[in-house]
Amino acid sequence: MDSSGVPTQHSDIQLLRTRLHMLRHSVDEIDELLERYISSEQKLHESQERFQLLLEGVKDYAIFMLDTQGYVISWNTGAQRIKGYTADEIIGSHFSIFYPSADQDAGKPARELEIAIQDGRYEEEGWRIRKDGSRFWANVLITALYDSSGQLRGFGKVTRDMTERKLAEEMRTQLQERNHQLELAKEARSQAEAMLRSRDEFLTVTAHELRTPITSLLGYAQLLQRRFDQPSPERDQRAIKAIISQAQRLNHFTTMLLDMMRLGTGHRTLHRTELDLRAEVGHIVSRFQMLYDRHTLMLAAPPEPVIIIGDEHSLEQIFDNLIQNAIKYSPLGGTIAISIELAEAHARITIADQGIGIPATSLPHIFDRFYRAANVTPEHISGMGIGLFIVKELVTLHGGTIDVTSTPGQGTSFRVSLPLKP
Ligand code: ADP
Repeated sequence: MDSSGVPTQHSDIQLLRTRLHMLRHSVDEIDELLERYISSEQKLHESQERFQLLLEGVKDYAIFMLDTQGYVISWNTGAQRIKGYTADEIIGSHFSIFYPSADQDAGKPARELEIAIQDGRYEEEGWRIRKDGSRFWANVLITALYDSSGQLRGFGKVTRDMTERKLAEEMRTQLQERNHQLELAKEARSQAEAMLRSRDEFLTVTAHELRTPITSLLGYAQLLQRRFDQPSPERDQRAIKAIISQAQRLNHFTTMLLDMMRLGTGHRTLHRTELDLRAEVGHIVSRFQMLYDRHTLMLAAPPEPVIIIGDEHSLEQIFDNLIQNAIKYSPLGGTIAISIELAEAHARITIADQGIGIPATSLPHIFDRFYRAANVTPEHISGMGIGLFIVKELVTLHGGTIDVTSTPGQGTSFRVSLPLKP
């Protein structure tokens, strides 16, 4: 090529052509890159638009962003619907405006952002305030947002209005509470009714039990009065015996009533001493055996003393009552088997009769006050339904237990278990 740049030789022309070709190639490449850039820009824009549409379309959730200090920088339709502010009204405001004043004063909003930074997210349910000042129950999720270099860029906040669910829950709780109160009231009422029934039964029993001996005492006393004119020692003796026996019956009845009252109110005190149960039960059995000849009382006991710590008078009452019942409810006679066995730290005393038995439906109630089983009628077998109540209370005061098994028409077994002296 010469100084004016005109190709002088064939090789120069060739070189120029090659350069031109390369230049065109580069231009094509730039063109292609440019096209690709424009298309990706377009795609990004489209995707941002779609995302924006999605955000806008979500109406049930308030979705918005806060800057690193907690100021609102974006706002969606859901947020406007739930909280009542338009985007123009709220963007730039601090998000603490959504909290009740007590929470604001307590520094709750700032603390929630701190937790979101620490843990990545913060979630809770709580009361929030709408633009018009009304409260709503919100489910809130705050997420800390970081850029690719790990720097905090702000927070995403998703809030859902759960007021209806909360109100439904509160209503359910209130309803449950009301039901509970209703149950308590019902229970109190049925307890009061049971007490009234018990009082009525008590009065009936008292009237019934007092009338017979009083009538009889009165009758014999009047008889004795008339006899003063024509004395007859034999008849007078009978009248006096009758008066004594009826007075004893009254005495027994009033003692039982007093015992029942004392046990019911926790006023019965025990005088505990070391006792040999085998000897105590042995005495009671011999005493009964002397009084009743239609029944055979059999006692099986260990050869050595059975020592417990107990109140002698109470123990006498317990076994007196149980053996007396075994006799009373075996009107045809039969054997009454009394046994004392040692079972680990306890003495087990069983009183088994061959009497009328107790119907299964009555069994759960026979330790209740004034309860008499369905198969007894006061005309045939007298009683007040207090004895077993007293027995059970006394056994319990001694740290023991009592249970019963029975087959109607065949017999009944009461089993008392009392702790041995350690
Ligand atoms: P009661 O004065 O009526 O005998 P208790 O409290 O001693 O009162 O007994 C309550 C009820 O238990 C009795 O009315 C009776 O129905 C039943 N009962 C108690 N012991 C026996 C028994 N050995 N056999 C059958 N029934 C019994």
